Amino acid sequence: MGRKKNNTHKHHKKAQAAALDIDSINAADAVSLGLDSKVLVLNKFYLAVRVISARRAFSMLISDLAEVVHVDDGAYLNYDFESWTEVSQAAAEVEREEHDWVRTVRFDLAVPRIIRLLGYDRLPQQRVKLNRRNLFARDRNHCQYCGHHFPTSELSIDHVNPKSQGGGDSWENLVCSCIRCNTRKGGRTPQQANMKLICTPKRPRRNPLISMRMTNDRYASWKQFLDNAYWSVELR
Ligand SMILES: [Zn+2]
Repeated sequence: MGRKKNNTHKHHKKAQAAALDIDSINAADAVSLGLDSKVLVLNKFYLAVRVISARRAFSMLISDLAEVVHVDDGAYLNYDFESWTEVSQAAAEVEREEHDWVRTVRFDLAVPRIIRLLGYDRLPQQRVKLNRRNLFARDRNHCQYCGHHFPTSELSIDHVNPKSQGGGDSWENLVCSCIRCNTRKGGRTPQQANMKLICTPKRPRRNPLISMRMTNDRYASWKQFLDNAYWSVELR
């Protein structure tokens, strides 16, 4: 696959970077909501590999393991940590609402939405792991029988085709169910219990936790990379 537009802005202001270490970011925790935001990590080839905390992203940027990929009108701009601190200072004045901020001792730093690993060329994990958290995220905490939304604590995982009748653990055979529906269904198939699934359970094509996050405008810039990742994996 071809490399995307890649304008690298390199400014070497080592003195400034030295003044800003990860400790000064940690120390500012109390006033920095920005540390709660999430950062999409791309590999060297611009494929999405995972989502990490802002704190980890900064520590990778500071140690030159990664660079910032800033999406602006569909074009990618790449910044090393030093140039990102400069961009941040300009952005703090003119586009404050568009970023989350971390307060450091000397200035405010915008949390990048996306970083790119400079040395990592392994392929992203292609399959979404089957676990409780991802199942709840796939079903968006809705009982797949009555269709109602419940807090995680009031949902259980139901084997559509029960274990006792040979049903296994798979994306296609596990769904979220509220306690009431689960009890009503008992050890029966939906057909035997005369119950209907609101939709056919499937393996999600991308990590459902990432999909949920993408409904938030703050993370709109992730979309092109995630769709990209999906197609690259499928066409391989
Ligand atoms: Zn239910």
